Amino acid sequence: MSAPVPVRSRPPRQPKPPVLMEVVATERLSAHLVRLTLGGPGFEVYQDRDATDKYIKLMFADPALGLSMPYDMEQLRETLPPEKMPVRRTYTVRAVDQEAGTLTVDFVVHGEQGLAGPWAAQAQVGDPVTFGGPGGMFNPDPEVDWHLLAGDESAIPAIASALEAMPGSASGIAIIEVAGPEDEIPLSAPEGIEVRWLHRGDIFSPESTKLAHAVIETPWREGSVQVFAHGEREMVKDLRRYLSDVRGVDRKSMSLSAYWAYGRAEEAFQAEKSEPIGQIFPEA
Ligand SMILES: Cc1cc2nc3c(=O)[nH]c(=O)nc-3n(C[C@H](O)[C@H](O)[C@H](O)COP(=O)(O)OP(=O)(O)OC[C@H]3O[C@@H](n4cnc5c(N)ncnc54)[C@H](O)[C@@H]3O)c2cc1C
Repeated sequence: MSAPVPVRSRPPRQPKPPVLMEVVATERLSAHLVRLTLGGPGFEVYQDRDATDKYIKLMFADPALGLSMPYDMEQLRETLPPEKMPVRRTYTVRAVDQEAGTLTVDFVVHGEQGLAGPWAAQAQVGDPVTFGGPGGMFNPDPEVDWHLLAGDESAIPAIASALEAMPGSASGIAIIEVAGPEDEIPLSAPEGIEVRWLHRGDIFSPESTKLAHAVIETPWREGSVQVFAHGEREMVKDLRRYLSDVRGVDRKSMSLSAYWAYGRAEEAFQAEKSEPIGQIFPEA
């Protein structure tokens, strides 16, 4: 009889500790985009990640609870009812400056509603901020024949980072929907990538968005493609239908996800990911 094979249990994954930083600079990039630079001693705790779409989860607590940052979510879960827990908002890390010990995050200012957008619009140097992460796993593939990038304002940071990471020989197109010309920002892209801005008008709505239609109308190119398309959920679903059903793009060649959903705060949007309405790929 052979000796019993020892069962190796995997060590439990250590969650990354929450990071506490502060706003060290603010800058209005465009009519609806605010850049916050985050820094301070908390940068030492931040564990960076090799992905152009890396994202963090900012945490917002009800000030009336008097909780001190950084929030220990595990511990708070034991003492607070679910409705009192800090809520999370997801943001791309646009850039990391290891020398300066700072992160850059670009926030869409989308009106009075919500937590993160209004917070960023008012943020001042010295304001504390706590977050978890980063997550994210996209990097542009230098081997593909062409790239298709598409997104609304919320995806500008991730698209900008992807464009900067591409080799100079990369070719393709980036189609970005914003409210108007005052929302366009300079992007550094390889010469062979056409950057095309679309103007929907001030307010996003299922009727005003133009992005999916513009992608569908864009002449399709020959050869292998890598797709990076993110933004409002229904728009991303329209793109998924076109890319997989009409163009036959392999799922592995597409990074496609909703960054937000029209009429939903992030809690509702995240919760719906387990329901058919929240799924970009129906079988997922
Ligand atoms: C991986 C990932 C990366 C992201 N990166 C960024 C980023 O770098 N910059 C960025 O600005 N956003 C980014 N987002 C989107 C951001 O998380 C959402 O827009 C989030 O809902 C904003 O939180 P809020 O508190 O301002 O609004 P919420 O409280 O979540 O929502 C309030 C209302 O505002 C609407 N709303 C939310 N976002 C928008 C929007 N962009 N435009 C118009 N209406 C909106 C909602 O539909 C809702 O009706 C990212 C999302 C993901 C999943």
